[in-house]
Amino acid sequence: MDEKLLVTPLLKALHFAADKHRDQRRKDDEASPYINHPIEVAELLARVGGVTDLIALQGAILHDTIEDTDTSPDELERQFGAEVRRVVEEVTDDKTLPKAERKRLQVEHAAHISHPARLVKLADKISNVRSVTLTPPSKWPLSRRQEYLDWTEQVVGGLRGTNAPLEALYDELLAEGRRVLSSIAAASTRSEA
Ligand code: ZN
Repeated sequence: MDEKLLVTPLLKALHFAADKHRDQRRKDDEASPYINHPIEVAELLARVGGVTDLIALQGAILHDTIEDTDTSPDELERQFGAEVRRVVEEVTDDKTLPKAERKRLQVEHAAHISHPARLVKLADKISNVRSVTLTPPSKWPLSRRQEYLDWTEQVVGGLRGTNAPLEALYDELLAEGRRVLSSIAAASTRSEA
């Protein structure tokens, strides 16, 4: 494939996402720029998952634009086409619903979304497990971090059979995350004793 066919639309997606997320920061101690997250998700798909499908890669870069910025589905379709719009919509939570319900629906929907959307969701959960382990939101107590890891395991359960290298990396990071969190728990129990 002519590389320009992949590179130009990917850079267009990056430019668009960077502009839309420009004022957002993550909730970790360092308040890192939000855009690092979608870039990481797309990079995981390409490097670990060996994904070269443009729709999945653009979908990864743009995956949080509808949920977290003023981007509308129509705007995405005009800029990137109907398939990218659909992938982003498939991984977008309905923010009018209560949080617990949104989390339950992610578990329920995971098995029924399209292949590119499954890839994006898998890499998204890898990125999130890594941040909840290493650079968690400052206000999250340990129990919330543990619950978060447990919940991602349920969502990923519905995504099995999508991409073996990504699933293997997820499993590795989940196990490492649980080790890290239980050693923090053990250290705080010791300091209380
Ligand atoms: Zn995300």
